[in-house]
Amino acid sequence: MSDIRYDRLYDDYVIIAPERLHRPDCAHETISNASTQSRICPFCEGNERMTPPEIFALRDRNGPNTPGWRTRVVPNLYKAVRIEAPWQSHGHGPYDLWEGFGAHEVIIDTPRHLQRVDAWELQEYRDWLVTFRSRLMDLRKDLRLVYFSLFKNHGPSAGATQTHPHSQLIALPVIPKSLLARIERARHYRKIHGHSLFQGVLDYEMEFRERLVAENDSFAAFCPYASAYAFEVRILAKEQRVVSLSDLNDPGIEALAQILQTTIRALYRELGDFDFNLTFDTPPMQKNVSTEEWFEEIPRFWRLGLRIIPRLYNWGGFEMESDMRINPVPPEEAAFLLRG
Ligand SMILES: [Zn+2]
Repeated sequence: MSDIRYDRLYDDYVIIAPERLHRPDCAHETISNASTQSRICPFCEGNERMTPPEIFALRDRNGPNTPGWRTRVVPNLYKAVRIEAPWQSHGHGPYDLWEGFGAHEVIIDTPRHLQRVDAWELQEYRDWLVTFRSRLMDLRKDLRLVYFSLFKNHGPSAGATQTHPHSQLIALPVIPKSLLARIERARHYRKIHGHSLFQGVLDYEMEFRERLVAENDSFAAFCPYASAYAFEVRILAKEQRVVSLSDLNDPGIEALAQILQTTIRALYRELGDFDFNLTFDTPPMQKNVSTEEWFEEIPRFWRLGLRIIPRLYNWGGFEMESDMRINPVPPEEAAFLLRG
């Protein structure tokens, strides 16, 4: 059983999850000891019985838990949190904890075991985004789940312990401090300037273009002005009403799939098969005591964004202690290379 503990001094939540210790580590499996399908991989097509029953799948044929799928979603076997846990918090002296309540799902991106992300066709990006969108729309019906983290870890330096291409979704009853602080800053900027911070950033990047990587009618991809990581890329929705993946209609999904494919291919061209984290900026999804003051205002100050963070360098003590990163590659130079 896990629990979500609150650190009062650092104002941070920590998930204590002993089950995560038992994850098999097969991230170092390479092309030499695995083929396109692996007999021991629970995420490969044909091995559906090795996972818990599926929650969702995009299928060309057959019924649940059989081959014939394009993407498949299953509960994480090594959960950080579980939906069956009681939705309860307790105080212990100076400490607070939430029972380990939440959802932790694995999105199996493709049936193919060693599919490189830069080889994904447009349809695969579309399927992947549609899968995330439908899980987000389904889970947000549970009013206890407020915070949604959608992410992909690729490679051991990014924290992946499984070679087969997959992503994850964690939904929690509490909002992390870092997201609350971002919301506070975005609201403050909107109040002072009369337009959203995201629009301010987009307007500037589109005008000067030195950090721009790619764009289409609905999205722009650029290396952030203060990139914390070498070759970091942010993708932002151009339309103000699009604040999370669940606001995207099918043409919006198509546009995001297209810019994501262009950006990932550009990164692979410059960096080879690199380890990375990909995250979605998703605002809190429920109105409750901690969000009611600004919940209705979210579409005015927030915007759907994706962050691709190459993990080329490790952190040291300075980064851990100060929460400041040292990035040796100026974002202007990274964008110049990525534009090809
Ligand atoms: Zn596999």
